[in-house]
Amino acid sequence: MCGIVGAVSTRNIVPVLIEGLRRLEYRGYDSCGVAVHQGGQLRRARSTSRVAELDANVAADEILGGTGIAHTRWATHGAPAVHNAHPHFSHGPNAQAGSAGRIALVHNGIIENHDELRAELKAKGYVFTSQTDTEVIAHLVDQLYTGDLLDAVQQATAQLRGAYAIAVFCRDEPHRVIGAREGSPLVLGVGANERAGENFLASDAMALAGVTDQIVYLEEGDVVDLQLGKYWITRRDGDGPFKPVAREVRTVQAHTGAAELGPYRHYMQKEIFEQPKAIADTL
Ligand code: GLU
Repeated sequence: MCGIVGAVSTRNIVPVLIEGLRRLEYRGYDSCGVAVHQGGQLRRARSTSRVAELDANVAADEILGGTGIAHTRWATHGAPAVHNAHPHFSHGPNAQAGSAGRIALVHNGIIENHDELRAELKAKGYVFTSQTDTEVIAHLVDQLYTGDLLDAVQQATAQLRGAYAIAVFCRDEPHRVIGAREGSPLVLGVGANERAGENFLASDAMALAGVTDQIVYLEEGDVVDLQLGKYWITRRDGDGPFKPVAREVRTVQAHTGAAELGPYRHYMQKEIFEQPKAIADTL
């Protein structure tokens, strides 16, 4: 279970997504990726190397856009390879090789009923290009999509068993990202930059340090709709319909130093050397 960052904005949000991934590096990961809405299409870059290399790939491929999602992966289903790295795209049923994606999705966690869902989606013509449990969710959302991404994600989450935090966007709704969580962490960051009307998703508040300190801690079962200058959170009681719910916005001063490597070679070494301070702080 690793890290997610997502955003809707009117400025190019790729540097914020990449910086968010850097701040999530302390969790450890085996691959990483980013996808944006660019020129009416979904575009992505993925890497089994460090976030720094992903950043270089993004610059070389001129990937930029105001709506996007990014991910660091800790593989549970499928080897740490580029084709298994997130974001995953769904190209719709019976897609031809090279056809444009419609749904882009990142996921932290494990989907326990992925085998059943994969069999159903294959029978409907969906072609799988990875061994992940995650790709199942991308195709499921695509299959349920009839023009309203919030509705499709709400319906999809009702069919998932297991743990997930997801962030999803759609080629046909350029300024919208939907997030959902059950068993994996996800926060909403309310944008401070009013002109850009931006809003964010992340695995923790630290990923958004320097971007916004206005944080909503999403609760189990929440599905959040991020748009330019507005957001709303929905959830359902039992098998009932999804209804809007109010959540407190907290001011969170994320301590950016905690996520920075500093003079250490890797995060385990940093944690070892920080033990005396951690114990003193705790006392
Ligand atoms: N189960 C997913 C995968 O293997 C997500 C892993 C994660 O949480 O990073 O791709």
